Amino acid sequence: MAPAYTMISALNPHSARVSILVRATRIWEATNKENGSLLHTDVVFIDEEASSIMVAIWNNQKQDYFPRIKEGDVYKITDFKIMPAQKKFRPVKKDISLSFYHKTKVEPMEDNGLIPKYKFDLTSFEVARTLLWDTTNFIDIMGMVKDVSSLETTSKGSKKLDVLLVDDRNHDMVISLWEEKATHFMESMAPLQDAAVFVIITGLLAKQYSGNSIILSSGDPTKCYFNLDYDPLKELMGNIQAITGHSSTSLPPPTKKRFVSTEDNIIADATIQTILDAQLPDDKKVMRFVCEATIVDISKYDGWYYNSCPTCPRKIRFEHGNLYCDGCTKETGDYVQRYKITIHVKDDTAKTTFTLFNKEAQRLIGAPIQTIIAEIGQDKITSDIPVLVKNVKGKKCVFEVKVTIFNLDGREGYTVARLSEVTDQPPSTSNPPETLMDSPRKKKKLA
Ligand SMILES: [Zn+2]
Repeated sequence: MAPAYTMISALNPHSARVSILVRATRIWEATNKENGSLLHTDVVFIDEEASSIMVAIWNNQKQDYFPRIKEGDVYKITDFKIMPAQKKFRPVKKDISLSFYHKTKVEPMEDNGLIPKYKFDLTSFEVARTLLWDTTNFIDIMGMVKDVSSLETTSKGSKKLDVLLVDDRNHDMVISLWEEKATHFMESMAPLQDAAVFVIITGLLAKQYSGNSIILSSGDPTKCYFNLDYDPLKELMGNIQAITGHSSTSLPPPTKKRFVSTEDNIIADATIQTILDAQLPDDKKVMRFVCEATIVDISKYDGWYYNSCPTCPRKIRFEHGNLYCDGCTKETGDYVQRYKITIHVKDDTAKTTFTLFNKEAQRLIGAPIQTIIAEIGQDKITSDIPVLVKNVKGKKCVFEVKVTIFNLDGREGYTVARLSEVTDQPPSTSNPPETLMDSPRKKKKLA
């Protein structure tokens, strides 16, 4: 008697009119990155042998299958096409995929308990790193959550959360989760925070930005599974316990918000001491730190402005009586003043100096340099610090500073890339409840 069901492993492009009994294990929507429009809805099915295969359901078919197909449920699927898998972004490492057409029948079935709930193509951190910019397959990974960053908003307005995972060889990997993957991760972690957390994260791609470490970045198929009852994950847990000598209950819970975000290369919640001690790794030209500090003084000897090219922010060079810009590589004929202020700052750990250029200085001073110059008179400006500039003394700010090779000789004067003032406002009783619930000393987000 012919078997009632064909196994996924036996499917080939010539399989016709066969039936498979499968569990829908993962469902997600694939979107167009440029405009966010829905491209297709993807389902990964697994069978009794724990083989998996994917189907992309096109938008014009979607209402035939959804919401009928649900994650976790078992279906008998009859009459489908076997097609070559998409060349890129394969969530399942397989050369073929399913394709549904008008004859395809998807019937809900009783869960006989024989089909596993999950199947992941897990990749080690070492192998994942060799897959940099390889978009053939999405990467599934597992690890113990060692550290979780704060949710940050990138300069392009995307939400990002970095998660540091450690494996049973004590190797690390940073996973950058974007948008709803980030918020979902945070929500899922919230009730788990008192103990070690083990996680499987699917649908990742290896990326590397501006010479930083290779990280794994989330995509549409990304899903996070926490403390899952899945043999490889349990094995990892056991191995990590064996290495650390901790029992499962005493493994340290993940730390939070003290985290090196390698993607943007920003070290959040740094102290001045961290910045002073920073060593630039060979492969990095710049490191960024975010720290909160108080301005204790303005350097008297560094002036407060410089003569800049009128078209770019380069300092103008006087050459044989001519004005020359090395940025624009031409004579400029004219120049303008821009702010350049060296501030003395301190926190609980140390003190140092930061350099503020035009935009950040203006933000802090609250007036463009032209206003101050107009008050003093263009022909009367000297290197003496004007009162309005001196007024920044005493302000507490969150600074994002850059450490570059120019700082390695002990010069300090770290360039401020961004800043925002911290206001020490006591909660007002007339304010709405949400303000009352917030910490009275609220750290502003860097814009
Ligand atoms: Zn220029």
